Amino acid sequence: MGKKQATATSVRDALRVAPGSESVLLKPGDTPVGPTAKAKAAEELAATGAELAALQEALWAEGVFGGGSRGVLLVLQGMDTSGKGGTIEHVFGLMNPQGIRVASFKKPTPAERRHDFLWRIRKQVPGPGLIGVFDRSHYEDVLVVRVESLVAQSVWEARYQQINDFEAELAEQGVTVVKCFLHISAEEQKARLLARLEDPAKRWKYNPDDLRARSKWSQYEEAYAAALGRCSTAVAPWHVIPADRKWYRNWAVARLLLETLRDLDPQLPSIDYDLDAELKRLKTADPLN
Ligand code: AMP
Ligand code: MG
Repeated sequence: MGKKQATATSVRDALRVAPGSESVLLKPGDTPVGPTAKAKAAEELAATGAELAALQEALWAEGVFGGGSRGVLLVLQGMDTSGKGGTIEHVFGLMNPQGIRVASFKKPTPAERRHDFLWRIRKQVPGPGLIGVFDRSHYEDVLVVRVESLVAQSVWEARYQQINDFEAELAEQGVTVVKCFLHISAEEQKARLLARLEDPAKRWKYNPDDLRARSKWSQYEEAYAAALGRCSTAVAPWHVIPADRKWYRNWAVARLLLETLRDLDPQLPSIDYDLDAELKRLKTADPLN
């Protein structure tokens, strides 16, 4: 009984950040809900995959063929090596790439810098039927930008409200926004950076700038806490994903997405032809018979 209840707990409820919260409460190694061992998590992820794929196809059909207007946007944020790329590979690899749009946000180009910070973001908002995934996002503009003082404080301070307004606008337009902070510890990051340097196949992932961000770990902690607390809203909540263990991270993001899609309950388009007549045509009047 107790076990059954644990699996029935909503992952979104267990990982959601309370609006206005001042610090990140979950720890990078926590397993507040769901499996506590790797084998079980892998098994559940595989089972989740089939349902995720079916729901995603229904959303796509609804939006692309059924005249629907709904989409989903999953925002992934986290320190270097927190597993944004790995999550995309393992979670979105379970679905049909035709309906997925991945956008990665790097240092703004000179052209991007000439516009408002949301300009490049707006261009990547998923249209009807699509699931958009942001590998970094508009939140960089209150994270790295705040920590590195890339603009005046008055400018980044104003952005929390601008972000909330923007995300409310998305919700209005039919885009369900789900935000995930992939939470790793400084120790785990060190191990992953070392692995990147030591393994020739992973060296391309390393960037000397990663150590610059690492050296400002506590400032990033503060910036993340502020972004999560100030921008976790009813229409676009933040979730903390304990990410020191990759199997837990993948499981948790997949389940969050699953719960979101189940709630949306996408509807396959209704047919606009006479089913019986078409069956008869194919069975009896098919010229290739
Ligand atoms: P990666 O995701 O590891 O390929 O690195 C992308 C880099 O671009 C990270 O260091 C981000 O902090 C940085 N970046 C992304 N968006 C912005 C932004 N709006 N302003 C400054 N740096 C950014
Ligand atoms: Mg990197």
